[in-house]
Amino acid sequence: MKFEEMNISPALLRGVQEMGYEEATPIQAQTIPLLLDGRDVIGQAQTGTGKTAAFALPVLEKIDPANHSLQTLILCPTRELAIQVAGEIRRLASFTHGIRLLPVYGGQDIGQQIRALRGGVQIIVGTPGRVMDHMRRRTLRVDRVHTVILDEADEMLNMGFREDIETILQDTPVERQTALFSATMPPPILEITHQYQRDAQLVRVVKKELTVQNIEQYYFDVRPSYKAELLTRLLDMYTPHLSMVFCNTKRTVDELTALLQNQGYAAEGLHGDLKQQQRDRVMEAFRGGKASVLVATDVAARGIDVDDVDIVFNYDLPQDDEYYVHRIGRTGRAGKNGLAFTFISGREIYHLRDLQRYCHTRISPRPIPSLSDVNETRMENLFQEVGTIIETEDLTSYRNVLECRMEEHNYSAIDVAAALLKLHPVSRDLNSDDMMPASPRVLHDAEEGMVRLFLNIGKEQGAGPGNIVGAIAGESGLPGKIIGSIDMHDKYTFVDIPKDHAREVLYSMRNAKILGKPVRMERATQKSTSERKWKTRNR
Ligand code: ADP
Ligand code: MG
Repeated sequence: MKFEEMNISPALLRGVQEMGYEEATPIQAQTIPLLLDGRDVIGQAQTGTGKTAAFALPVLEKIDPANHSLQTLILCPTRELAIQVAGEIRRLASFTHGIRLLPVYGGQDIGQQIRALRGGVQIIVGTPGRVMDHMRRRTLRVDRVHTVILDEADEMLNMGFREDIETILQDTPVERQTALFSATMPPPILEITHQYQRDAQLVRVVKKELTVQNIEQYYFDVRPSYKAELLTRLLDMYTPHLSMVFCNTKRTVDELTALLQNQGYAAEGLHGDLKQQQRDRVMEAFRGGKASVLVATDVAARGIDVDDVDIVFNYDLPQDDEYYVHRIGRTGRAGKNGLAFTFISGREIYHLRDLQRYCHTRISPRPIPSLSDVNETRMENLFQEVGTIIETEDLTSYRNVLECRMEEHNYSAIDVAAALLKLHPVSRDLNSDDMMPASPRVLHDAEEGMVRLFLNIGKEQGAGPGNIVGAIAGESGLPGKIIGSIDMHDKYTFVDIPKDHAREVLYSMRNAKILGKPVRMERATQKSTSERKWKTRNR
């Protein structure tokens, strides 16, 4: 359906055109006419389907520019979304005169907001808490409001805004038009609907349209303790400009973000416990390309609109099948091809089968890439880049410089290329990893094929070799017999582990306790030079 076929004024249609929207998305096509008609509406569609414009256009259409009182109240769960929605409304209204809009959210100077409100505002896009605050102060009056929009309603309820929302709704005139938009419809939403909407029309964009056609989906069967390693291998192989990594808990988000950062990846974490300021910083870094890997929980990522995500990783299998669709829908937008990788382990394969049935999609298995696969791919990518540069760019000045230097020092082209390659590392090996940023002083060397690890617990705390073997075997799932020599001191212990398992052990031990005490395990080497290498690697 075309926007021109709807009852939208020419100025707004120009705004739509400026945004580059060719035709209405299904949720827009179905809700805009109802909203223009004055009906109460419940709109359910997945993230990224254009729900904002679905309500923004009717809202703008119904504002009376001559009337300076508050006419429309739009509630959003977070400051970020309030800013995003306000921005979209402003852009749609670029050719419409006399619209006065104000985003209102916590964390912003309230005095400044009060002054802005005094100037007369017709549309408020705000978070429930701050809107309530203004209502209590009587700096915001809702008695002339004719339209209320609850955007991302499920999210607002998740965040505990139910009471605030009800109080706000109770204070607005009963004859108002109320529209609610949400990605999911849990029971509490239906309760709000029954209580505060009148004869609401339910518009659901059905699942079939939700499943995403142009996204290639694969899964990897991987031991939990090996997931982080797999993730870094895939990041190295595919070198996505932007990727999102979904985890089920805040704790995993924090830990994985720290681990990726330690290994030199431009990663940022996002979850509900972060202060708004931190969230803003993270999103800015991600949108601006300063961060390329966004690690997030479902809740934190919901409603955040970022295009151009090359790969979505399901680091944990989503708890709700519907989330799978929401998650992978972040990639493959705007006609581009997307890629989604899901990590499962053991019995989760059964869950994955159900998920495929539910989402009407196919997720194919992929073998875990070996380090030589990773290196080969990286080398191949590099040579492809090199080839393109040789064929398409003017390298005369570089050539001249190189010719002079090579002659002066009597280097061959191969010597120079090899050295440059070393400067621009494309390969990694198990010896170069450092999971932990700082490592303690070196003592003695490990046996051949083994890596020496340090543990900050020793004889003084009552630990014996049995406790150490038990903890490592228990956390990593590896048989105790692969553990090499254990050298116990008063306050610390050295343990030899086969090289191939070092990463796995280190990662699995990150939350381990011995004798009830949390312990820290790291590589027993001097602050390794490879750390610098990883840090400076440009992503
Ligand atoms: P939702 O609220 O459903 O998660 P948004 O309103 O944030 O989705 O829209 C997601 C993206 O789609 C935005 O970048 C928006 O500008 C774009 N968009 C919205 N409507 C259309 C349309 N009709 N055609 C093309 N892009 C659209
Ligand atoms: Mg939205």
